[in-house]
Amino acid sequence: MNCYSQICSTKTKKAMNRITVAKGDGIGPEIMNATLKIMKAAGAQLEIDEIEIGEKVYLAGNTSGISKESWDIIRRNKVFLKAPITTPQGGGYKSLNVSTRKFLGLYSNIRPCKSLHPFVKTKHPDMDVVIIRENEEDLYAGIEHQQTDEVVQCLKLISRPGCEKIIRYAFEYCKQYGRKKVTCFTKDNIMKQTDGLFHEVFNEIAKEYPEIENEHWIVDIGAAKLADTPEEFDVIVMGNLYGDMLSDVAAQITGSVGLGGSANIGETCAMFEAIHGSAPLIAGQNIANPSGLIQGAIMMLNHIGQNEVAEKIQNAWLATIEQGIHTNDIYKEGISKKAVSTEEFTDAVIANLNQKPVQLKQVSYKNGNALKLPKYERKSPKHKELVGVDLFVHWNGTSPDELAGLLQKIELPEAKLTMITNRGIKVWPQGFEETFCTDHWRCRFKNEEDATINKLAIIRLLTNAEDSLIDVIKTENLYHFDGKPSFSLGQGQ
Ligand code: NAD
Repeated sequence: MNCYSQICSTKTKKAMNRITVAKGDGIGPEIMNATLKIMKAAGAQLEIDEIEIGEKVYLAGNTSGISKESWDIIRRNKVFLKAPITTPQGGGYKSLNVSTRKFLGLYSNIRPCKSLHPFVKTKHPDMDVVIIRENEEDLYAGIEHQQTDEVVQCLKLISRPGCEKIIRYAFEYCKQYGRKKVTCFTKDNIMKQTDGLFHEVFNEIAKEYPEIENEHWIVDIGAAKLADTPEEFDVIVMGNLYGDMLSDVAAQITGSVGLGGSANIGETCAMFEAIHGSAPLIAGQNIANPSGLIQGAIMMLNHIGQNEVAEKIQNAWLATIEQGIHTNDIYKEGISKKAVSTEEFTDAVIANLNQKPVQLKQVSYKNGNALKLPKYERKSPKHKELVGVDLFVHWNGTSPDELAGLLQKIELPEAKLTMITNRGIKVWPQGFEETFCTDHWRCRFKNEEDATINKLAIIRLLTNAEDSLIDVIKTENLYHFDGKPSFSLGQGQ
């Protein structure tokens, strides 16, 4: 680890912020040097601890790509500016980006996607969208199991605190940056429990912000609309998987994914970076575009309250783009004026530090700063009643009626077999012959009167199944929360 302290500017006596910097791999060092040079010239008050992460650390045998000492520095400084890193293929190397977000509780990922028409080619000249993506849960919890010969499972976990934090963040962001509308994307017509909770919390929190418009779209048509008419959106909040995909789509349709920066914000720590990767093929050639990391750094400066510096750099950067001074990746004959290297682009931004764009909209970050959100408070527990159990069974037969016959032999007076589904589709009673069945069966045992059952009933069912050589691979308890059934029905039930 290379750790040193550097004072960027001593021109004024404003408070210093101590941050952690990692130059990363590939083009990382070039674009980080460019970004630091611009911040220094703009008067950023930063003390820097540099750490080493990424390829070298991985290849030295550390499968997490980062040492314990570096974690300590990141946790102490709380603000982390990170260049892209290369994750070696295979070899059990863990994604450092995912670990950093999760270990540090960086629940909110923010990606502004604004077009720079007519200076960067785009089909959407009026696009100005901010994607706010939940960063910690959903299918990205990474809890996966193989359960039968034919079926593997990934758990989609959505929590109320996770929803409340990200959705409140979206409304507070909207308020702070003078935006008008928050849109929520879910697929709650299908995933009524998980995406249903996200949508429900969105509706609850939206009521606390009557001055901000709110709307909800089913993610598939919402995504199509975003790709077609992005100018109709303002701030969009969504879960981890949809956000991962659509934030790349949104960045790309502004004109270039290479121009975007992103912030990952938690309750105590924050990490700022470019959207793109380490671009190893163009590393060391002084041709990379440093704009994505510059955008990450501008978000960082706003986060730590150095709003004037952030504003100065953003306006200088916009002026540079507007003057047609472009690196190769965005250079277009007829639009661009001059093709420049990484260093030339950096110097042009510095030369423009007291300039403002003429045609592109100038920015004003008077209201920057880290958002201060209330801590999540756990709600009082709901009334929870156990009303049944789903036994998941590995069975190689093909006839649901035959399986039902076997299962009816193990049922209890208080927990009868009521339904069998295969990959969610009801196949018993009264299934369709045409439905394709795998070796993975969900077998629902419930009280016929919907009355509460005792957990010992589940143990008896499992014992009976074991005695009858029925291979139960997992169970899910069926609950009513506050009297409401809180489990999905079979499709077709
Ligand atoms: P990439 O973003 O590095 O490159 C994609 C394409 O865009 C390449 O043609 C590249 O030359 C170009 N490009 C990217 N950034 C550019 C810039 N600033 N200026 C000019 N051109 C630029 O994606 P990839 O090739 O899929 O990944 C390369 C490596 O980066 C992989 O090891 C991957 O794991 C890693 N990666 C890291 C991060 C991160 O650290 N946040 C993110 C994505 C990918």
